[in-house]
Amino acid sequence: MLDAAGGATEPLAAALVCGHRLRVNPISCVAHGLCAELLPELVELDEWGYPVIDRAPVPVGLVAQARRVVAACPALALRQDGRRGRHS
Ligand code: SF4
Repeated sequence: MLDAAGGATEPLAAALVCGHRLRVNPISCVAHGLCAELLPELVELDEWGYPVIDRAPVPVGLVAQARRVVAACPALALRQDGRRGRHS
């Protein structure tokens, strides 16, 4: 991200993306909300407690954390999709 003068305002790694997107299977998800607790940068909960996931590619600085969230989902409803340009 750049400021008005064109200078960087964030560390470079935070601005880079890996091309993977975090996706949820809405059929499997049981609205534990754990994903939003562990990765609030990319996941918010809707009014019923189901995740609303940022469709932007996962920033490089959050890739490891996103992997941990995928592994931690008790319903196995999350995955990282490496195909660019596809959305759920
Ligand atoms: S942790 Fe898994 S089951 Fe819980 S809200 Fe997130 S995707 Fe759904």
